[in-house]
Amino acid sequence: MLLSDVVLLDYKRCNRRPFLDFYGDPNQQEAQRDFLFKLREENKKQVLEILADSFYHQPETAFQDWQTSGQETLALMEQGVDCILNGVLWQTGLAGWNLPFSVRETVTLLASPSLLVKQPGSSIFGDWQYEVVSVKLGRRPKPEYKLVAAFQAKLLALMQGSELVNPRLIVKSRSEYRINLTTWVSRMEEILTAVLAMLISRQEPEVFISRQRCNLCQWQSFCYDIAQEQAHLSLLPGVTPSRYEVLKKLGLTSLENLAQGNHFLLAKELGKDVAFDLKKQAMATLYQKPLLKSGSPASVLETIPTAHREIYFDIEAEPERNLDYLLGVLIVDYQQQTETFYPLIAETPEQEAEIWEKFLELVFLDPHAPIFHYSKYEVETIRRLAALYRTSRTQEQLLLKRLVDLHDRVTRYMILPTENYSLKTIAQWLGFQWRETGVSGEQCVCWYDQWLKTRDRDLLKAIIRYNEDDCRATYELKNWLVQFLSSHDPKTEQHLHQVQSI
Ligand code: SF4
Repeated sequence: MLLSDVVLLDYKRCNRRPFLDFYGDPNQQEAQRDFLFKLREENKKQVLEILADSFYHQPETAFQDWQTSGQETLALMEQGVDCILNGVLWQTGLAGWNLPFSVRETVTLLASPSLLVKQPGSSIFGDWQYEVVSVKLGRRPKPEYKLVAAFQAKLLALMQGSELVNPRLIVKSRSEYRINLTTWVSRMEEILTAVLAMLISRQEPEVFISRQRCNLCQWQSFCYDIAQEQAHLSLLPGVTPSRYEVLKKLGLTSLENLAQGNHFLLAKELGKDVAFDLKKQAMATLYQKPLLKSGSPASVLETIPTAHREIYFDIEAEPERNLDYLLGVLIVDYQQQTETFYPLIAETPEQEAEIWEKFLELVFLDPHAPIFHYSKYEVETIRRLAALYRTSRTQEQLLLKRLVDLHDRVTRYMILPTENYSLKTIAQWLGFQWRETGVSGEQCVCWYDQWLKTRDRDLLKAIIRYNEDDCRATYELKNWLVQFLSSHDPKTEQHLHQVQSI
């Protein structure tokens, strides 16, 4: 059995994933997302930028042939080279690892740290040894990074016959952290034990859909189908892994049970507000009815302005370049009965200033038109671009005052019978269809990257279509909210409560 640092990382994120990678049907696996390739490329670039003008070596053989690549890494360490990029470490058997059971199967441990850097010390090679430097794209030193670095450091210490050396972790901002192995080796060994136990016993972990971690996983459709078949509570917004454990303890593992569950017991475990929201969410989903979470329909309606001209705004960004390359503006004029979409696109990153100026001109043609959008990102971007391109404070403030974040209105006041509160899920529930099927904002990031390399205009057209549909979906949602709030009978909620208590 081959257990690598990647398996450990995956297990920390989702314990089901290594299980499926080992024992799942490969035909059920989807192709890797373009976005993952892009992230890998960015990570390679990040490591090379850190190395800058430094001299380094690397194994000649690709990682796929990890045995040969590992032997080449060992040879480089024996030579005492200063720095090894993408070295490969491996060990057959579990000698030296603190595991509470003996494993009959032959286990090979494998790791590939970003860098191995020579240090003074003592090892089987002589009066030098190597330290692990792990370079990650994340902004923070996440626990899973520390776990992987601890695994690599321990494997390295066993291979080079040295003491454990605290590894270094470098994140996106180039901030550097020393990982304290006194804490992290024991945690890492606990997780290694758990992975081994799961794989040896072939115990398939329960499915648990979490948008954040499942979105880039190749088993997403497979797991999602199972979750739907089981009507799994992870499909209910607000049910996190830790809350799910509490629900299991209380025996509330179905929608019906949760909707009818004892509010006081639930509130005791999760707090009054969470218990209230979860039960109401279960009711909305069970009866497929949108509900009001708080406030009266009239008071919520007051927070959603209506004007004879309205603007719907959505941005496409390239986080790696810190670039907002498409400012999509849909202007709906009820008097003229027109809907006009303006895709303000930077064909090169340098054109960002130009599209910002065009955006200001466009939205100030009618300085009173409310600007609807669906996330905090638009507010943050306006602040960033205003500061970067020295927009006057007055103009910036006038603009910010006109913004209406429908995500805020929906999550603050509504409970919808949807699996999450993303614009895509809600608009699709309303019947809206994107012309580009199966596309996400992440895919647009990849397309824009390809556009910059290939100048293939079809890519830009696809991004613009996607962005226009985001604006139109926001428009659709706004109309639905106004209609719902104008006709909603507050007795609906009371009635459902009564049905539940029968
Ligand atoms: S899709 Fe989600 S639940 Fe399934 S293996 Fe991947 S991360 Fe885990």
